[in-house]
Amino acid sequence: MIPFLDLKKVNQKYEEEILLAINKVIQSGWYLQGAANKEFEENYSKYIGSKFAIGVANGLDALRLILRAYMEMGFLQEGDEVIVPANTYIASVLAITDNKLKPVFVEPNFDTLQIDPSRIEEVITKRTKAIMIVHLYGRCAYMDSIGQICANHNLKLIEDNAQAHGCYFNDNRTGNLGDAAGHSFYPGKNLGAFGDAGAVTTNDEQLASTIRALSNYGSKQKYVCEYQGLNSRLDEIQAAILNVKLQYLDNDNDARRKAAKRYINEITNNKVLIPNIETWSSHVFHLFPVFVENRNAFQKYLLDGGVQTVIHYPIPPHKQKCYSDFNNLHFPLTERIHDQELSLPISPVITDEEITKIVDLVNKW
Ligand SMILES: *Cc1c(COP(=O)(O)O)cnc(C)c1O
Repeated sequence: MIPFLDLKKVNQKYEEEILLAINKVIQSGWYLQGAANKEFEENYSKYIGSKFAIGVANGLDALRLILRAYMEMGFLQEGDEVIVPANTYIASVLAITDNKLKPVFVEPNFDTLQIDPSRIEEVITKRTKAIMIVHLYGRCAYMDSIGQICANHNLKLIEDNAQAHGCYFNDNRTGNLGDAAGHSFYPGKNLGAFGDAGAVTTNDEQLASTIRALSNYGSKQKYVCEYQGLNSRLDEIQAAILNVKLQYLDNDNDARRKAAKRYINEITNNKVLIPNIETWSSHVFHLFPVFVENRNAFQKYLLDGGVQTVIHYPIPPHKQKCYSDFNNLHFPLTERIHDQELSLPISPVITDEEITKIVDLVNKW
């Protein structure tokens, strides 16, 4: 059986170095907000190209905290609108509604699977204050036209970079294309911790210091609380692990691209739609989505042939029970994506033999 993602194998490559790093934290006797965090924040901001990186507890918190900080700073008020792609992982939307802001969904472009810039301006109202783009599946969603729309309408641009660490738009990394970005280091992400972890990157000093305070009980100075904050911190052990793995992220992403190239060159079955890639640096292949009409049967066929796959995602946010207010909305492209998408195995450790076997099965479907 070819697993969808063999995390043990992914991490085994770095096991010795990781064990040393964890041991160093244990021996330090300091487990939160210490040297490993500081080092990771420096390394990660340097990697992304941003002035600031703030370690937080997970990717959802990173996004929640960005919006919450804009509320504390007076840029956002309850009920303001945030534009978000209709086809995203639920966390992007949860971050918006958690702050009592209103998500305004925009359909993707089916060729890129990313928010369609030509559909953004028609939903902008007086209450629109921000656009959250999501680099879904590891593909850069940013376009100059999106930056232009934000400038024209005075909107903040927030990136959900949970799936795209290391991805580029021209010479800039995703996570450094807008006003602020949320990153997740959930174990299965391209840069994955051994538990929950996340970060915010930004070039805005006031935003950075507000988020840092909000994530630590709303306090800038111990026992003095400026905001009604929360506890959302990156722990030292996760930071130490991320410090090790960050050094290998570009190599790991190259290995993902190599696997993706083989899929793209070798899958010839015209019943299976594969991604159309123009610029390889603007994709880090967190996932390799394909589209088929009879998706569930296709998934079963692959499983019977020894290949595990995952659907990203079976239910779009506006059709979720928790968002019953949005259930009557209709986004045909988004719904088509959720009906037809299937992710093939891809990771830095997938072997040539495994890809050959998967391609073979897919082409015989
Ligand atoms: C994983 C993910 C998140 C949430 O990150 P967590 O660390 O799991 O909270 C947010 N947005 C997207 C697009 C994701 O894939």
